[in-house]
Amino acid sequence: MKKIDAAARLIGRHSSLFQCPVCGLAMEMNENRTLLCRNRHGFDTAKPGYISLLTKAVKSDYGKTMFEARNLVCRSGFFHPLIERIGRTILTNISGGGLEPVTVLDAGCGEGSQLAQLADVWKRETTAGFLGAGLDLSKEGVAIAAREYGGFIWCVGDLARSPFRNQSFDVILNVLSASNYGEFTRLLRNDGMLIKVVPGSGHLQQLRDALYDDRSPRQAYSNEKTRALFMQHFDILDEQQLRYDVTLQEELLEPLVRMTPLSWGARDEQIQQAMRLAIREVTADFTVLVGRAKVR
Ligand SMILES: [Zn+2]
Repeated sequence: MKKIDAAARLIGRHSSLFQCPVCGLAMEMNENRTLLCRNRHGFDTAKPGYISLLTKAVKSDYGKTMFEARNLVCRSGFFHPLIERIGRTILTNISGGGLEPVTVLDAGCGEGSQLAQLADVWKRETTAGFLGAGLDLSKEGVAIAAREYGGFIWCVGDLARSPFRNQSFDVILNVLSASNYGEFTRLLRNDGMLIKVVPGSGHLQQLRDALYDDRSPRQAYSNEKTRALFMQHFDILDEQQLRYDVTLQEELLEPLVRMTPLSWGARDEQIQQAMRLAIREVTADFTVLVGRAKVR
């Protein structure tokens, strides 16, 4: 089956997850692979196997090069310990065993690897079903996700006006990506869970040392503001620190630098300098915040 047909069929089967990003009405997939609301606002399934539900053109800061780099790094297993941890957190906190699959939205899914790898962990650990949807503002990222990982609902869309109905998801993943707590609260089921991952103080320290001098404000990491904002909207069920060192194969250093927000403010010459240092070991350091929406 062609990717576009498989995507349209999957989205059609789960069209009850969607609401029109223009008017908020329910949507259905028609035979032309267009997701339509009753007011005839329509969104076509794209050839690579995703659907764009943007209501206006949005310029994303992140280009194809960054997402291809990120895909390479993800495939190398860089995030595996983190994904394993997230998988176990969901298994522990979500009451499985029902007939319905667990529904997971990756808000800010980028090139899709983290959702796909989480589904692998899930399938290894349980026979319960897994329905994964990924949403990102970047068409470039979502197109790679659709190219690389079948069996997921991949959407280009705006998290601030997300094209999903109230209480559609058991789990929202939000990994190293911007949050919209109002939307997270709206989209989660009553016993649903938000898993937000933010970088810890030691994250990619070796790259930061190579790219910036000590007095650069980028050297300072603090999650206090993020945590306070999280707690305004969600009760913290669990908070975990996860730190591990990764030995880099030589060819992965450049993609790692390219995919990393740290480098966005770095000049080309700084990036070249980091490459010359031939860093072979980097630290991954994350804080995993697990929350339930405050009682509405
Ligand atoms: Zn509509």
